[in-house]
Amino acid sequence: MGSINENPAFGYSPSNLPQQLFINNEYIDAKNTETISVFNPKDNSLVSDKVPVAGAEDVDAAVAAAEAAFPAWKAITALERRNILLRFADLIDKHSLALAELTRITLGAPYGPFGKFELGMATESFRYNAGWIDKFAGEAHPQENGFMKITRHEPLGVTAGIVPWNGPLGTVGLKAAPALATGNCFILKPSEKTPFAALALGLLIKEAGFPPGVFQILSGAGPTGALLARHMRIRKVSFTGSIRTGKLIQKMAAETNLKRVTLELGGKSPAVVFDDCNLDNAVTWCVNAIAANTGQVCFAASRVYVQEGILDKFTEKYKAALEERAKAINDPEEATTLMGPLVDEAQFRRVTGFIERGAQQGAILTGGKRVGDKGYFIQPTVFTNVAADAELYREEIFGPVSILNSFKTESEVLQKANATEYGLMAGVFTQDINKAMRMASEFESGMVGINCVSLNMLNVPFGGSKQSGLGRECGRAALEHFTETKTIMINLTY
Ligand code: NAD
Repeated sequence: MGSINENPAFGYSPSNLPQQLFINNEYIDAKNTETISVFNPKDNSLVSDKVPVAGAEDVDAAVAAAEAAFPAWKAITALERRNILLRFADLIDKHSLALAELTRITLGAPYGPFGKFELGMATESFRYNAGWIDKFAGEAHPQENGFMKITRHEPLGVTAGIVPWNGPLGTVGLKAAPALATGNCFILKPSEKTPFAALALGLLIKEAGFPPGVFQILSGAGPTGALLARHMRIRKVSFTGSIRTGKLIQKMAAETNLKRVTLELGGKSPAVVFDDCNLDNAVTWCVNAIAANTGQVCFAASRVYVQEGILDKFTEKYKAALEERAKAINDPEEATTLMGPLVDEAQFRRVTGFIERGAQQGAILTGGKRVGDKGYFIQPTVFTNVAADAELYREEIFGPVSILNSFKTESEVLQKANATEYGLMAGVFTQDINKAMRMASEFESGMVGINCVSLNMLNVPFGGSKQSGLGRECGRAALEHFTETKTIMINLTY
């Protein structure tokens, strides 16, 4: 991760918010006059009632600018493109504190444990993908029958990224960096709940040297996202968010121009803890897995399965560690805060609703209560003895709420872990490598952690199986999803 500059001069701050669209390298007022209000989740105070909403005319203007920019951006030398991406990463680093603050006032994420991770994901994704630009080569096949065959990875043209509120800049890095590295133009639509850090990037896009129209930002809510997903001249949408919206996006893409779609969706990820694991290691990962970002993480390990021989010890330590974490729930502006509030009132109602109804579905081991009387703070909460058909067991809560289950055998726990439509991540804790590898190959999930869980790394594919997603981000896979493979056959015989 890059260093944090303590003294950056930056054009935007909570008292001077970016409240315009960023089109063709200029901040401009939306043609659409509608606006959105956003609130600070630590106390529900109004942050702004002037978040612009891009309408059809604004989307068309951005698409036209992107189309105009595409031929030159596609043709720019690898070196120049790489340097622009690297400069952009450096600029995000330089202004990390300002950007984290612009996120914190609407997401509530404290800088220390999550804000830093989130920003690091953005900068490192730009650096990682910049490194691929002159290495993402196609194939040359051995000559046979007098034909030489080569393949090229070609950019798609105008692409868009629709991102959620829980990782407002990290998700931008995962989408924009591979899109731009492979020569596409990219239009970003941040979440209506956390628009400011993304909108502020316009300053850095210009300073880094992206040509006008290459990287643009359109704020707005679902309808703006739908305009992108339905647009006939956008060739790809990379989406991160809920399964419900992901399905709509795929449908809109199919109904219009069959644009390429990548979907990073929800999860209900299992962590399986065997008797023979390193107990403290398992507890540490399982606690972070549900407490990080106040549980608002797609790959959070929200179903913990513990083998009977270690159940009492694990339960005691897991409970104690979560209760310790609960002591660090506080104002996200404070340096010692480890857990901030849930993002907004709707999310607070959703999570507390699960907890209230859950009281009839299982026993509360710890937590369950609101913290303080303003804002949306909530204790990390664990339920035990939850029936497999209960909503608490089956549905993604997207808050700091897990269920703790026991199991006897490997086959039993595999059946339980896989009995879900989600398939984003799974973790297994054991010191028996054979058992770990058997589990890893049988989990129905896009990602598996052995003696770790709920983590991602930029150089390996990230994504879900079953209804947790379609396609992959990160690693070489992300570049493949932002390009079309073209086959060229050369007749060597005439
Ligand atoms: P959401 O689906 O409500 O919104 C996500 C984005 O889609 C927002 O920008 C929103 O404005 C936009 N949107 C909403 N309706 C739309 C429509 N009809 N057409 C086009 N765009 C539309 O999700 P959310 O509440 O912002 O995020 C939470 C969800 O995201 C959770 O389910 C979580 O698991 C998931 N998530 C997944 C990953 C992953 O990588 N797999 C990462 C983070 C979050």
